[in-house]
Amino acid sequence: MEANRHIGCNVNNCAYHCKDCNCCSLDHIEVGSHETNPTKSECTDCRSFKYKG
Ligand code: SF4
Repeated sequence: MEANRHIGCNVNNCAYHCKDCNCCSLDHIEVGSHETNPTKSECTDCRSFKYKG
């Protein structure tokens, strides 16, 4: 797994998470929203997330 320090992330449960740098190991991620009119960061989601379990 190669750390991508350009994408910081603290979602430990993701298969792509690097805990050494608290970042993502993907080159590219897809971000979206589960809201029709997002107004806060909490409204956004990483759609590249994959459960590590
Ligand atoms: S895919 Fe998304 S949730 Fe998973 S480590 Fe990368 S940025 Fe975080």
